[in-house]
Amino acid sequence: MEIDLMEMLLEGKHSFEFQDYCERYFDAIYGIEFQRVASYGSNGDGGKDGYIPQSKEYFAISSRSDVKTKIRQDFVNCVTKNYNVEIFNFVTNRISTSDELAVVDKLRIHNPNIKINVITHKHIAAKIMQMPSQQIRTVLCRSLDFQGDNTVFFKADEKEKISFPFSQSVKDSYVYYLFVMTLLTLVIAIGIYYIWSSNEWVWKMSMMSLLCALPIFLYFYKEKLKKTKFPHKILYLILGEKLPVEREVLFDEQTHISIRRNGPWHFTFNKRSADCIKKGCCGKVYLYRSEEYNLVGRCENDKINHVYKVDGNFYGDLLS
Ligand SMILES: [Zn+2]
Repeated sequence: MEIDLMEMLLEGKHSFEFQDYCERYFDAIYGIEFQRVASYGSNGDGGKDGYIPQSKEYFAISSRSDVKTKIRQDFVNCVTKNYNVEIFNFVTNRISTSDELAVVDKLRIHNPNIKINVITHKHIAAKIMQMPSQQIRTVLCRSLDFQGDNTVFFKADEKEKISFPFSQSVKDSYVYYLFVMTLLTLVIAIGIYYIWSSNEWVWKMSMMSLLCALPIFLYFYKEKLKKTKFPHKILYLILGEKLPVEREVLFDEQTHISIRRNGPWHFTFNKRSADCIKKGCCGKVYLYRSEEYNLVGRCENDKINHVYKVDGNFYGDLLS
């Protein structure tokens, strides 16, 4: 990939997407020293999107076009809400060079004790181009050149993305639990009645009404049942330490939904798929569990022969 293409790629990213790219980039540059700040919750408005505690260096990431206003806002926010800021970095993909900003000079004159840097997507693109290809893949979440490569990336469908705190998953699922509980209670009650009483007519009537009530219930609560987020399954993953923060795992094989844990109690459901690269096939590849590889991708056109071994970052290698 040429550097201008890399610049265009970064320039085309908006809001959280640009932030994701930048965070992965700073992870690659600074390693564990770089601390991300969740963009939701109480830390989100602390005037920083990331920081390095050792060097008291702070990062504000923005893809807003009103750069002059935003940089002043973020700077004031950062120095008032954080103690002892030594370096303030404003990261943007909306200008090419920091020279365009007289506002930066002004901020520097008024705050001589703080080093103020502007990092643009052009800086980042140039640095990324110098990285080894494996690292570029991690930052961009894709390989530079797929040609001649047997790798695919399972992209998350933006339209299917749902982010929610844990409390929301409980709220959205009570109808489902109520449904399961009621059904269980009724089945047990009818069963006990049948054991204690031999009145077959009553038993048949109760079974019949149960069978009729089910579709009626499903009809009226269909939409609410669809929203169910299975919080017990999420809890099981957390308690079993199968879902650490910042990780994403397959949640439901049938619907191909995976779950990402953004923060301790904040999650995103993703629906990931890739285009099959088997010659002549243009099917979609979805994720499945596998005993051998943990995660595999299977093509909708041929689940047995078009199979991909998938890693934790959702890159799949075609198994021929
Ligand atoms: Zn295929």
